[in-house]
Amino acid sequence: MTGTVYKSTGSWYTVKTMNGKFYECRIKGRFRIQGIKSTNPIAVGDKVEFELETKNNTETGVIHRIEERSNYIVRKSVNLSKQTHIIAANVDQVFLLVTIDNPPTFTSFIDRFLVTAEAYSVNTVLVFNKIDTYDNEKMLEVKYLQSIYKKIGYECIEISAATGHNIEKIKALMIGKVSMFSGHSGVGKSTLVNAIEPSLDLKTKAISEQHMQGQHTTTFAEMFDLSFDAKIIDTPGIKGFGVVDMEKEEVGDYFPEFFALKQDCKFNNCLHLKEPKCAVKEALENDEVSYSRYRSYIQILEGDEEHYRTDNWDN
Ligand code: GDP
Ligand code: ZN
Repeated sequence: MTGTVYKSTGSWYTVKTMNGKFYECRIKGRFRIQGIKSTNPIAVGDKVEFELETKNNTETGVIHRIEERSNYIVRKSVNLSKQTHIIAANVDQVFLLVTIDNPPTFTSFIDRFLVTAEAYSVNTVLVFNKIDTYDNEKMLEVKYLQSIYKKIGYECIEISAATGHNIEKIKALMIGKVSMFSGHSGVGKSTLVNAIEPSLDLKTKAISEQHMQGQHTTTFAEMFDLSFDAKIIDTPGIKGFGVVDMEKEEVGDYFPEFFALKQDCKFNNCLHLKEPKCAVKEALENDEVSYSRYRSYIQILEGDEEHYRTDNWDN
């Protein structure tokens, strides 16, 4: 049998088959996948093969194969072992929620997020939320940010999760896909998910209420089927994701507009810093590359390892 992992709680995995049945499965033996050293061999979103076994009249599954992943997102654990934890696999897109204030989202955060997403081959849609609260000046800022990111190929949508403005556009993008929602705490992720699918609200609430009671439990990602042929992966308690070690030379490749210019730099290993005849620096001087993007790039290059990690950037 084959199915998709919807939930994992340590040693058991909830797998949904094509005909909509859920099975509790465990793993047979040890798995080593794509050379990743992770604390969990199988993650939500994984497509697996399993065999049924019946014990004491209950049918459970034994997973013996994992399909190759189109991508996966990891979180580096904070302890010294530096083991990674795979948050989710086979994610089609992440909606990154951005607010101008309450809370402010800075371009340095957006750009680090995008670099990470590019490194993971996850498509990102920028969602500018809370537009019902902005005055003219703040709306200009929204438009300006959209112009920066649209120009380099990122889809941008301005919404109000509170009034429902443009929620249909988000839903249209979600059809047939597995989506995740990300962004600083307070940007409106729960409000948006609730606007998209009101029936999911209870679950989100239940999880956060558990948090309030101080139960220091590890929270697990979970996949949900929505009512309109869309899936979301909810990652309670996980606000960002960490980059697996990235070389300095690689960073520019995850800035799509820099990558496109790289072939015109004099040196093919150009870091776009002080090298002569650098196409990126030239484009920056001609206002073809955005200054804030270049600044973010420098910040990432100059940062130590801590700065490569998105999971430290929650406010
Ligand atoms: P999360 O931490 O990202 O899940 O953020 P929440 O969904 O909990 O939202 C944080 C606060 O912002 C709540 O008080 C929401 O009611 C409010 N909020 C979310 N979206 C909007 C919006 O589009 N407009 C307004 N005015 N408030 C919003
Ligand atoms: Zn260059």
